Amino acid sequence: MDKQALKRRVIDAIDARAEEIIKIGDDLWKIPEVGYREYKTAEYVEAQYEKMGWYYENKLGITGSKAYLKEKGSRPTVAIVGELDSLDVPTHPEADPKTGWVHCCGHHAQVTAMLAAGFGLDVVKDELDGNIVMMGVPAEELIQMDFRNKLVEDGKITFMGGKQEFIHIGAMDDIDMTIGSHSTGSLKGAKLGTGGTENGFIAKLTKYKGIAAHAGDHPDEAVNALNAALLGIMGAHANRETFRDEDHIRFHPILTKAGSIVNNVPADVHMESFVRGATVPAIKGANMKVNNALRAGAMAVGAEVELIDVPGYMPYHRDPVLDVVLRENCLTLTDFVPLGDHSCGSTDMGDFSCVHPTTNLVMGGVSGSHHHSSFAVEDKVNLYVLPAKALAITVIDLLYDDAVKAKEIMDQFEPVIPRDEYAEFMQKMIE
Ligand SMILES: [Zn+2]
Ligand SMILES: [Zn+2]
Repeated sequence: MDKQALKRRVIDAIDARAEEIIKIGDDLWKIPEVGYREYKTAEYVEAQYEKMGWYYENKLGITGSKAYLKEKGSRPTVAIVGELDSLDVPTHPEADPKTGWVHCCGHHAQVTAMLAAGFGLDVVKDELDGNIVMMGVPAEELIQMDFRNKLVEDGKITFMGGKQEFIHIGAMDDIDMTIGSHSTGSLKGAKLGTGGTENGFIAKLTKYKGIAAHAGDHPDEAVNALNAALLGIMGAHANRETFRDEDHIRFHPILTKAGSIVNNVPADVHMESFVRGATVPAIKGANMKVNNALRAGAMAVGAEVELIDVPGYMPYHRDPVLDVVLRENCLTLTDFVPLGDHSCGSTDMGDFSCVHPTTNLVMGGVSGSHHHSSFAVEDKVNLYVLPAKALAITVIDLLYDDAVKAKEIMDQFEPVIPRDEYAEFMQKMIE
C-alpha cells in the first residue's frame, strides 16, 4: 500500500479510538507513582498490551516493560518511549492525599500517546519492515535518592534513572532507535514541537555527621551537622560567579534529613543535589568546585562528610536526521511546529541519545508550570491523541519500503558511548 494511504489508515484508527485514548489518559492521571514504584501503572499498561494481544516483557528495571508489535527479532526496531513515573509534589491540588504523588510533569500523557500510537500502528504493522516496540520506562525523575540508594545497595538496580538501567541490563540491545514525547507549556500556542538540547548532570547524596548533645544545656559538647551542610551550600554559592554562562550550570540542593529532635544539636543531615551543565567537562568542572565547598562546610565545624556522587543523566542531543523526520510528520498534522532551544532541565533520554539515535516530540495541551502546583491538563486531544498520530506516522516513514529511512539514520549515527561501555563511561563521569 502507498505510504500516504498507510498514514491515513493509522490516523483514522487513532481517531476511531479517541474516546478510549482519553480515558486511558484520565485513568493514568489518577494513579501517579514515583520512580521504581510504578506498580499500578505497570499493571495498567500491561493490561493494555494484553488487550491488544502484543507479546511483552515486563519487570525490566523493576517496573518497566517492552511490547512488540511484530515477532521479536525483526530489525530495525523502533521503540516508542513512555515514562511511567510521577512526581512528589504534595502542594498540587490534585496530588494523591496519602502519598503527595502527582503527574505534574505530565508523564501519564506520554504513556497514553505511546499506547495510542501502538493502537494505530497495529493496523498497518504487516505493511512495515522491522519492528515496533512500545516501551514503558520507569524512573525518569531522579528523586528520592535515599530510597534509590537503598535499591542500589540491595542489588535491585544499578542506576538511579530508568533509561540508564534499561541500557545497563541490555533491554536496549535489540532497539535501534527511540522516539519519546513530553508535554510542555512553552509552545506559544502551537500544538506540537521538536528540536532542542538539554543539560546533563551529576546527582549527589551528601551525608554530614556531627555529634548530638542537648541543644540548650550542652551545645559545647556537640558538632552541628546542619551548620556544616549550610556552610557547604554557602561555599557552593560563592563559586557561582566562576560558572560560564554558556555552560548553563545549575546547583540546587535540598535537605532530606536535618536532625531528629529540636532539643538536640542536629548530628545527622542528608542533602540531595544536582550539578547540571551543558557538557560533560562543564559538569565535571563545576562538580569538583561544589565538592570542595561541601567538604569545606564539614571542615569549618569539625563534622564528617560522606560525598556520594551518582552518575546523573547525559546531556541530550536529538539525532538531527530522526528529528527532521519527526518534524516533517508533525507539520502534516499542524501548521506551526516551533523548534526548541537549550533547556537547563535534564532527561535520561540524554543517555539514550548517546547510545542510539533518539528524539522526542513535545506537545501542548497543558497549562501552568511543570513540577509546580499550577500544572493542569487543558486539551486532552492535543495532549494524548495528536502526539500519538505524530509518533505513529513518523514510524511509518522509518519502516516503510525495507525500512530504508531507519537504516539511513542508523548508518550515519555515531555513538557518544558504545553501548557495551556504558557503565564504565558513567563511572568515569564521577571519578
Ligand atoms: Zn519532570
Ligand atoms: Zn518530565
